[in-house]
Amino acid sequence: MTDKSPLPPLHVYALAHRCPACGADPGEPCNAPRKQAASDSFNADREKVGRPPVTPDPLQLMHTRRQDAGRRHLERDEMKAPWPSDREPGRRYDTLG
Ligand SMILES: [Zn+2]
Repeated sequence: MTDKSPLPPLHVYALAHRCPACGADPGEPCNAPRKQAASDSFNADREKVGRPPVTPDPLQLMHTRRQDAGRRHLERDEMKAPWPSDREPGRRYDTLG
């Protein structure tokens, strides 16, 4: 597949929505202390065995309902955009503004 002008990744779409779970504004990270704690714990375990920390997938730190809103938005843009082979290089097909 030659995707000349791919749409932004899902986490960018999700971040563009207000979080229905914690009320985080668009562009602001979720207030998800348990998700952050799980990531910190994972990295603490890695450190114990001498492995470098990993940066969590941004979606892992977002509430599921916000991910779902982003997924619906991304799917709408995918449906509206031309077939990947017909997309013009450099042109944006997302509706993130
Ligand atoms: Zn949230």
